Amino acid sequence: MSLFQTQQAADVYDQLTILVGSAVRLLGGECGVFAVSNDAFDPQSSSEYTGYRLNEMALPLLLSHVQKSIQPNLRNPLIVEKIAPELALALGVDEEIVARQDFERCSLLLFDLIGLLGELHYLRPIHTHSPFEQSKIVDEAGQDEGNTLLLFIAQLAAGLRFALKTQSLLSEQGRLAAIFHYSAEGILTVDNALRIIDFNPAMERLTGWQESEVLGRFYFEVLRPKDRQGNDLGLQDSPILQVFAGQIVVNREMIITTRDGQHFNVAVTASCVRSAKGEPMNGILNVRDITRERQQEEQRSTFISVISHELQTPIAIIKGYASTLARTDATFDTEVMRSRLVAVEEEADRLNKLVGNLLYASRIQAGGLQMDIAALDLRSLIEGVVRRLEARRLNVDVTLDIPPNLPTAMADRDRIEEVLQNLLDNAVKYSPRQRELMIACRATSEEVIVSVKDAGMGISLRDQEQIFDRFQRVGDPLSQVTPGVGLGLYICRAIIEAHGGHIWVESTLHEGSTFSFSLPREENAQLPMVVF
Ligand code: ADP
Repeated sequence: MSLFQTQQAADVYDQLTILVGSAVRLLGGECGVFAVSNDAFDPQSSSEYTGYRLNEMALPLLLSHVQKSIQPNLRNPLIVEKIAPELALALGVDEEIVARQDFERCSLLLFDLIGLLGELHYLRPIHTHSPFEQSKIVDEAGQDEGNTLLLFIAQLAAGLRFALKTQSLLSEQGRLAAIFHYSAEGILTVDNALRIIDFNPAMERLTGWQESEVLGRFYFEVLRPKDRQGNDLGLQDSPILQVFAGQIVVNREMIITTRDGQHFNVAVTASCVRSAKGEPMNGILNVRDITRERQQEEQRSTFISVISHELQTPIAIIKGYASTLARTDATFDTEVMRSRLVAVEEEADRLNKLVGNLLYASRIQAGGLQMDIAALDLRSLIEGVVRRLEARRLNVDVTLDIPPNLPTAMADRDRIEEVLQNLLDNAVKYSPRQRELMIACRATSEEVIVSVKDAGMGISLRDQEQIFDRFQRVGDPLSQVTPGVGLGLYICRAIIEAHGGHIWVESTLHEGSTFSFSLPREENAQLPMVVF
């Protein structure tokens, strides 16, 4: 609720107090309270009271008793009862006045043609006569002898109904303003000439424009919308114009342009406020950022095509060699047979690795990566991995730079071996010409850091941000023809983060990359470290 609305609400409350006070005085009362009938106005605020010279502690005292005794009787709306002086004191009447006179408690039902508005309860000195009683309109038995009291009630009820209506409208307005202000979805409203009249904070965050900068501007000019293919939308495609033309709501996806010229996908819903005559007055546009959903959709379809390709290739090779070897009309010497069987084995390994990675990724997603953490000597682990790499005769030259007193880390040996294996495989895969790699280790006071450096194709800054995400592969042609599905680094990151470490890359395009990861030192590890 804005400051202006708070002020308005306070003004309405003052008005009510003045009305209730005047009514109590006119009825000859000293103090009183007006209790709004539960069903009179705002069903959400069940008890609304406006007091007049009544201390707050006395409020329940006065109401509890009177509400029990009062019988809704519109023909005899005033009920009068004597009360003990102690009660008058408890109800907040001045001690001096109480000493001078006895009090009675009066309850007056206030109603109009629509229904009951509430009850006015007040205390008055016993022998004070209100103008109505002077004219003998109401006697002790509550008989109605004239219209003056009813006329008074009608006047008072009209004033009260107006004030209460305003109050409920203001609280409604406050609720709507809060929804508008705190909505996570962008909301903008326009007048019937499509000029912006409201622009909520979510909209400011989405577009980078401040509300003050866009008020009064044509909304198309601010959002510069495009269709999903990137073509500028014509005004005839304006969702708001379409609802102005008669559709109830219009949902569509579009691309909007931010203040600094970036584009992103949004889903918009347009609706319209019409005048009593049915003419469009305001258009409302709800805007939801769906960039992430789009990216995931793209990732899914890339994933399917990459996976199908990655599965098909080894299967085709295995099938080809197997059917050749199975021919009955051909004989093969041992060497040929062996080389083909080795190829079959390699392709089966490739398949196995791919399926393993897929299972791994789905386990990470389900949050079920279990770690078996123990003290780990990184030097022996690295030397083992390098030995296996050299045995593959890939024609790579690996240099080690490991300080002699490298501290022990706390980690799951098998998982870290997988990480290192993955980084080395990548370094080899993405360095087709340069076959020199370096593995370096160093320690800080908290961690041990392992780096794998290659002099290969390198990764642009933009791609560096994404390669640790699932199914992210660099758009470079070499990367595209190199086998892989974009899961390796995602798995590496999950494993390292499950140890409480970090993984990162420093790279220059066409010059090479250094992938590093950190693990906690044995003495700093917080045990037990278990699940990811
Ligand atoms: P995959 O190698 O199976 O595609 P990864 O998750 O291991 O998946 O790597 C993601 C992407 O990061 C690769 O497709 C490649 O584009 C890029 N990348 C990874 N390592 C290197 C590297 N050492 N040099 C250049 N690019 C790399």
